[in-house]
Formats: sequence, C-alpha cells, structure tokens
Amino acid sequence: MKQSSYENYIEKIVREELDKMYEGNKDLCRCDLCYRDIMTLTLNNLPPMYVSSNVGHIMTMYNLTKDQLHASVVVELLKAIEQVKTSPNH
Ligand SMILES: [Zn+2]
Repeated sequence: MKQSSYENYIEKIVREELDKMYEGNKDLCRCDLCYRDIMTLTLNNLPPMYVSSNVGHIMTMYNLTKDQLHASVVVELLKAIEQVKTSPNH
C-alpha cells in the first residue's frame, strides 16, 4: 500500500491525549473495542484537520494555538470516555 503523505492532525492529538488519560484513569477499560469507540466518538465531534507538513500554517488558518487545540480535544475525549464507561459496547 502506498504510504499516504497526509494525516488528520486532530487524530494524532486525540491519540496522544487518550494515551495520557489511560495512564491517569486506571478504571478505564483498555480493550480494543473501547479504545476504538472513544476514538470514533471523539473524532466525530471534532472537525478533521488534514495536514501534509506545515502544521503551523494550519493553526494560523484556524486561528488556534496548540494549547487551544489540545483543550478542545480533551473536552471531547472526556465526553466520549463518560459515554463509553456508562454503556460499553461489550
Ligand atoms: Zn472494553
């Protein structure tokens, strides 16, 4: 398969933040299913942000700082985690 030269930058941040939350949240289910559900729910509530290389340019375009971006990802992640905890898919 051809290696894609672009990625959803938001997805990258969501992965980073979710890993941190798994560390600080020991009662959170770590199975693939819950992980996927949390990722999907979170990503559905955030606008995708495709980047090829120049992330700084994208941020300027959206008028966002890296901190703001991470903050909105954390908000959506917490909502998704709450939802998956309340009704896990298994
Ligand atoms: Zn699970």
